[in-house]
This record gives sequence, C-alpha cells and structure tokens, in this order.
Amino acid sequence: MPLHVFGLTGGIGSGKSSVGAHFQALGLPVVDADQLARDAVAVGSEGLSEIVRRFGADVLAPDGSLDRAALGRRVFSNPDERQALEAITHPRVRALARDRFATLEAQGEPLACYEVPLLFEAGLEKTYSPVVVVAVPAELQATRAAARDGVTRETIQRRISAQLPLAEKMARADFVIDNGGSLDATKLRAEQVLRAICDRFGIPVDRYAAKTKTRAS
Ligand code: ADP
Repeated sequence: MPLHVFGLTGGIGSGKSSVGAHFQALGLPVVDADQLARDAVAVGSEGLSEIVRRFGADVLAPDGSLDRAALGRRVFSNPDERQALEAITHPRVRALARDRFATLEAQGEPLACYEVPLLFEAGLEKTYSPVVVVAVPAELQATRAAARDGVTRETIQRRISAQLPLAEKMARADFVIDNGGSLDATKLRAEQVLRAICDRFGIPVDRYAAKTKTRAS
C-alpha cells in the first residue's frame, strides 16, 4: 500500500503545531519541515559546511552551530544571498523529507502529515494533497504568536505580512480548521478532518479513531 502524505499549513501562530501535535497524539506520523530545515544544517552536516564556505564563519555561533539570526540578517534584504542560501538548504530538506516518507512507507504506514509553514509559497500544494489550513482571525494570530515568541505584535505583524495572506491560504485549502475558539474545539475539528482524509484514501479510520472516540467521549 502506498503512503499518502497530506499537507498541514497556516500562518505564524495560527495553530499548525497544536494541530500537528494532536494528530501525532492520535498515532498519525507527523513530519515537521521546520525540524528538517534545522537538521539540514545541524553541526557536522554537509549543509552547514556549504553555508560556511559560501557565507563565511561569521554566521556561526561560538559553539559552532549556525547563528540563524546572523544569517537571517545577511539574506533578509539581499535576494541573491537568499537564493544562494536556498540553493544549499532546499534540496537537502527535500532529500530529508523523501527519506522520512520512504521509511514510513517501508514501515507500512498508510498516511502521514507534512507540516510546512510556507507550503503554498513553496508551491507544494500538488505534492502534498489534500492541504489542511489552520486559520484564526488576524487579531488572535498576532496576539498568540507574540505571546509564544516573547516579541512585540509589530514584529509578528512584519512576519505575517511577508507571508501569503491567511485568507488566500484558506481559499486554496481542501480543509480549513478554525482555531479561533478553544483548543478542545480545534481538536474535535482536526479529528473530523482526519476522518474525511482517511475516507478519501480508503484508509480504515479506526486506525486513529480508537483514540479519537476515547477523546471525544
Ligand atoms: P503555529 O505552529 O501555527 O505557529 P502554534 O500551534 O504554535 O502556531 O500556536 C501559537 C500559540 O497559540 C501557541 O503558544 C499555542 O499554545 C497557542 N494556541 C494555539 N491554539 C490555541 C487555542 N485554540 N487557544 C489558545 N491558545 C492557542
């Protein structure tokens, strides 16, 4: 049986990780693209060596790990530098994702979730289908993300405006999970969406539903 991988995305602070964590708690394998991006440039990796060759040792922290903030400042307003960085990281993240999904398939998993913050921006909506978007009203998004990251709402607003508007992501989604209410309400909706995705692929829903029923009762 082939592995089906659906996409999970949203805006900063919309609740992707919270929904991903719930899927994982139900027994669904969830792969986090942000984690793969960190793995791709971990200490000792070929990715990190390439970055140092291209950008110099200034982008390393004293402990030898990548200083993401320093590198971010370097590439933020320089499209050529940004492109050079992405040419190093993107193929590595793609290879790591392929490895993870191949392993899950070999283990006989029928379904997995790929959590990708910039799924639409990266043009991945056909590759990881259906696409589930976690959405919240803009006000709540900025408040929650600012509280989580310990930064001002203005900082979050700047990051939000660098992404595709959430409304557009919702319009392009196959499923929307409204995370504007309680986390419990969101979990129930996430379970509903998971059931619909299982139905779509003919995957026995009780593989995850056993835990779902306990939770909902
Ligand atoms: P994302 O992964 O999309 O950036 P998170 O799942 O980290 O978003 O959620 C952002 C912040 O909001 C986190 O601190 C999280 O605990 C909190 N949060 C998420 N959903 C809810 C909710 N329904 N009610 C209250 N707080 C929430």
